Amino acid sequence: MKLTFLGATQTVTGSKFLLEDSGVRILVDCGLFQGLKEFRLKNWRPFPVDPASLNAVLLTHAHIDHSGYLPVLFKNGFSGPVYCTPGTRDLCEILLPDAGYLQEEEARFANRHGFSKHRPALPLFTYEDAKNCLKHFKTVEFNAPLHLGEALKIQWIPVGHIIGASYILVQNKHQSLVFTGDVGRPDDILMNPPHPIKQADYLVVESTYGNRRHSPSDPWEDFEGMINTTIKRGGIVLVPSFAVGRAQHILKVIMDLKAAGKIPNVPVYLNSPMAIRATEVFCDHLDDHRLDENSCKELCRVAKFVTSVEHSKALTQKTEPAVIISSSGMATGGRVLHHLKSLVTDKKNTVVFVGFQAAGTRGEALIGGVDQIKIHGNYYPVRAEIRYMENLSAHADGPELIEWLKQMNSSPKRTFIVHGEPAAQDAMRRNLADFLHWESQIPKYGESVDLN
Ligand SMILES: [Zn+2]
Repeated sequence: MKLTFLGATQTVTGSKFLLEDSGVRILVDCGLFQGLKEFRLKNWRPFPVDPASLNAVLLTHAHIDHSGYLPVLFKNGFSGPVYCTPGTRDLCEILLPDAGYLQEEEARFANRHGFSKHRPALPLFTYEDAKNCLKHFKTVEFNAPLHLGEALKIQWIPVGHIIGASYILVQNKHQSLVFTGDVGRPDDILMNPPHPIKQADYLVVESTYGNRRHSPSDPWEDFEGMINTTIKRGGIVLVPSFAVGRAQHILKVIMDLKAAGKIPNVPVYLNSPMAIRATEVFCDHLDDHRLDENSCKELCRVAKFVTSVEHSKALTQKTEPAVIISSSGMATGGRVLHHLKSLVTDKKNTVVFVGFQAAGTRGEALIGGVDQIKIHGNYYPVRAEIRYMENLSAHADGPELIEWLKQMNSSPKRTFIVHGEPAAQDAMRRNLADFLHWESQIPKYGESVDLN
């Protein structure tokens, strides 16, 4: 087996690993680079191997940094199958066309304001490109073996994190290799704990929060206090939220608080068409998470779903106490901006950010305490209470990753640390050495290793 690292090296996005074995060429994950420009530019460069030469793509899960390069791969000549679990396929059907739409929006915006070097600015891929690539998806159930070529057996094993997420176990007659994808948390509010890896000769492990320990504070207590305080002031709680995963976590917390009578029965609105569909997908995959069918139906009832633009606009006029969940999660775009404009200027209201806020985003600026915020070309004074809650993460933290790996029957021969910023990867490497006595490597972009 030969393994080449084509993304998520010394960064958390762009996951792509090329595996070659006895004439078969597969790409494990096909993620988009996101965040800093130096990484985003990589999305535009020619792919290092001819896409037409690949036999298949395997996806660990649906997040865009693991799946979002697929439309580009197809545009450039790949025509094979994309194998993944049914949950991953369902979420990709929501996420990929939306990503294409956003690429088109960005190109339109750049053309209108003339700030692109390229005239006209073109989208990396379109809504239609994304729709086309979805036709090539083939689903494989968790744990069921898929045989590729003459020698390879591949399995998707549940790993929590989000619906459909798995680690991928690849075996030939002599060797086994595991790609962890993103690893969920043992005590996640909604998702099942990640299944342990029994054995792997070679391991490619994520390290997103390798240098972090998540806050031990209780999300129910945090939300209870914050909602009650805001309602007493006559204000609205606005939660900018990622549509897949995080929005469902918040609905679950609010559902429990209402059931226990810990918050008054104020209206809750879910104003994100993507989050609404992701919540419905949740109910289609009961085995992937901790909720039973009834609780799942209840999760869909706890909020009023805001689908139409008219309803969304009407909601921005609302002044009575309420909770509004809307995307995007870092307030970089989407319907949440309209709510932010009308709510951030009044000290009655609370804006609570619930996930990682990347550098340069409005979310990061607001958490950092700016006194005005620019939205759609205008500045708005920040008077609302701004809160940040980091206890709803869907990623295992450093100690949780070590505890998860400790369950392996034997140490891998070689371990490769990917999907983390340099500081997180370095902490992960030290933790593996200190707690498990494993040597590990941090591969560079384009590096190949022979695993025979
Ligand atoms: Zn993920």
